[in-house]
Amino acid sequence: MKHDHNSHPEKNIGFAFFLKISFTLIELIGGYLTNSIAVISNALHDLEDSLSLGVAWFLEKIAKKESTPHFSYGYKRLSLLAALINAIILLIGSIFILSEAIPRLWSPEQSNAEGMIFVSIIGMIVNAIAINKVSKGSTQNEKIISWHLLGDLLSWVAVFIASIIMIFSTITILDPLLSIFITLYIFWGVGKNFKSTTMLFLQAAPESLDIKTVEGFFKEDKLVKDVHNTHLWSLDGESHVLSSHIVVSCEIPQNQVKTLKKRLKNKLLENNIKYSTLEMEFDDEPCKKFHS
Ligand SMILES: [Zn+2]
Ligand SMILES: [Zn+2]
Repeated sequence: MKHDHNSHPEKNIGFAFFLKISFTLIELIGGYLTNSIAVISNALHDLEDSLSLGVAWFLEKIAKKESTPHFSYGYKRLSLLAALINAIILLIGSIFILSEAIPRLWSPEQSNAEGMIFVSIIGMIVNAIAINKVSKGSTQNEKIISWHLLGDLLSWVAVFIASIIMIFSTITILDPLLSIFITLYIFWGVGKNFKSTTMLFLQAAPESLDIKTVEGFFKEDKLVKDVHNTHLWSLDGESHVLSSHIVVSCEIPQNQVKTLKKRLKNKLLENNIKYSTLEMEFDDEPCKKFHS
């Protein structure tokens, strides 16, 4: 494989984070000075990006730490806590912006269109620099980030076009309209994240896999007579945890039980279940199971 000096995911993420967070501050000031709620909406979106980049960058350093006697799964769930806090900040931010933008539809306020043009040009430049930096990377994550940044660039193109129209006309409603559109888009995305994060906290089975499916994998094996007490949840949406009771005949030899366990564990690993505990039970022993 070709060695590429530019493909350093953490460094690129760190660079994008500092670029975004400084630009978020510029936008907030710019939005306030130009009295443009559309610019403030873009600032909220860039705050969203900054928070998630900051968390990704921070976790890159911290979350890889191995387990400790106190945190036996390591620090993987820190990302969940961060996602939940981010979602709450952004939901509050979206509601605040909507409560400012919607009344402006009826009583429009004058925004400084020339100032908006200036801020949107900086917005386009900043995102172009970030795209140029990140698109040099080759990881899947960096590709996703490039596409995302392209969307951000387009939202500045929209502000740019709207402010040019506002210079030549009296359509002041364009600013709150654009703002509502951008904010609803943020709200929708954050709402989805908020839901999936909450599900992870509540230890729901992963979206892509449920208990019936996993028990089905076990039952496909001829040696498995019954499966019960299966619990399946996800640490962070990527690494899943499972425990289950597997019933086998008390007459099969020990080495067959061992190979059965190995087969089942491999099947689980293929499905991202990285932490599994299988209790091998013989059909002549009683189990105090909770019927489910
Ligand atoms: Zn963005
Ligand atoms: Zn049992």
